[in-house]
Amino acid sequence: MKAWIGLGANLGDARAALRAAVQAMAGLPGTQVQRASSLYRSAPVDAGGPDYLNAVAELETGLGPLELLHALQAMEQAAGRERPYRNAPRTLDLDLLLYDEQHIDGPELTVPHPRMLERAFVLLPLAELRPGWAALGQLQAVAAQRIERLADAAQWLGLTE
Ligand code: ATP
Ligand code: CA
Ligand code: CA
Repeated sequence: MKAWIGLGANLGDARAALRAAVQAMAGLPGTQVQRASSLYRSAPVDAGGPDYLNAVAELETGLGPLELLHALQAMEQAAGRERPYRNAPRTLDLDLLLYDEQHIDGPELTVPHPRMLERAFVLLPLAELRPGWAALGQLQAVAAQRIERLADAAQWLGLTE
């Protein structure tokens, strides 16, 4: 199955945390990271704190959606994620945005991610990997959010200069 993961961090060495997360995803059983978006810097939404770094990764995985969620949560824990309050700054956030074409509405997991359409920092990187998933009007609806593209995937993943 194909899955799209939203990565974000705004504490510590955020770029290193995102890079390590991509490597950890590539190490999950039956899982390949097929593509990653560019790296973005975005203003916190509904929260204070430093700017975020964000990206989206596209996986091919044999893990089921809940297995994948739990694996992502373990990576957040390993990165020292704390949840003192809602939308608190974080060392690593991994959201399961899309899982194949599935719609899931469970106690632990909602897919597509319920707030993704409100967020430029999700829609812009996702649009690189799935152009056409968000309609033009949906992209226009988040156009006022401050976000800047920092580096292409090869650069931020350290595959090129
Ligand atoms: P937001 O969900 O608005 O992006 P957040 O990422 O800060 O906020 P978390 O504290 O990381 O929220 O997660 C809260 C809960 O969301 C988790 O315990 C998880 O069970 C649940 N959840 C539901 N759907 C998803 C999803 N698609 N991806 C990740 N977590 C999800
Ligand atoms: Ca999130
Ligand atoms: Ca999350």
